[in-house]
Formats: sequence, structure tokens, C-alpha cells
Amino acid sequence: MVKYLLKITAVLENLTNLQPQGGFDDFDFVYLFKLKCEWCGEVSQKEIGVTLNVTNISHPIGKGKPNLARKCKLCERIGTITMIPDRGQPLTLETSESEKYVPLMLFDVSGYEPVDYVFGPSWRAESMKGTKFENIDLSSGKFAEYDEKGKCPRVVIYDLRSTFDVVY
Ligand SMILES: [Zn+2]
Repeated sequence: MVKYLLKITAVLENLTNLQPQGGFDDFDFVYLFKLKCEWCGEVSQKEIGVTLNVTNISHPIGKGKPNLARKCKLCERIGTITMIPDRGQPLTLETSESEKYVPLMLFDVSGYEPVDYVFGPSWRAESMKGTKFENIDLSSGKFAEYDEKGKCPRVVIYDLRSTFDVVY
């Protein structure tokens, strides 16, 4: 098993505290990424979704309850992913400006390497004047609105980036 810490960053304008709508450990928040098979190198064609609310208790390898057990289409070996919650931190404007990444979720992965994380719907953030923006959809890679309540200029999110860091 190798642990991968998914970390993200983005350019934020007049916004701070970007995070999943229901929090990092929201059982329904879907983490979407591709899986590269450790044995044969095959990369899944589509992103695979993992959520805390799905546990695969019937899988044959090891102990615990992985959130995903998947057979590689090419070599047919089974790999698993177990999510380890309680690691997420909101992306603040300050972190964004210093081009640093913040942790989102930790994955204990066997048989695969996670690659190509994709941002989806259900994010939230707040303007520097405290106006809350809910259910932000980052699927298109950007978000732009006006903060009329806070009389702020435009609030923008773009240049989304992510990385999976191996954690020992
Ligand atoms: Zn394979």
C-alpha cells in the first residue's frame, strides 16, 4: 500500500477558503481521477469516482473497507483505494498567492497510482468581504462572479492545479 496525498491550488481573485461544499470529509463529495495500473501500466480511459459513502466490503485482499476495488481491464489484477479523511485544508488567498498547494484528501492505494485529478461540482468559497459563494462548479476549470453584496470587484477562480504526493 502506498499513500497518496491529493493536493490542489488555483489562482483566486478576491476569494478565499476554497473547499468542498460539505467539507473535505463530506461522504457524498466525489473525488475523480484516473488510475494507472502498477503492474501493466494501463491508465483507465475515464476518471474513476471515489467517495467516502461507498465501501467495498466484499473485496478479497487484506483487511479494512476500501472505498473502491477495481480490476485492471488489461491484466485483470485487483487494486484498491481506501480514503483517509481528516487531512483537508481550505485554499486561502494567501496560499494561492504564494503558489503553494493545500491537502485535500489522503488515499491509501494498492495496485494503482492515482493520476489526473479532475475538479468537479460542489465547491464553496467566500469573498474577501465575507460573501459566501455556494455550489461552485469547477468542472469547466474556472469560475467568475460578481460580489454585489460585498461591493467587491469580480471574484474569480482559475488555473486549477493538482498533484498526488507520495506520503511515507
Ligand atoms: Zn494492469
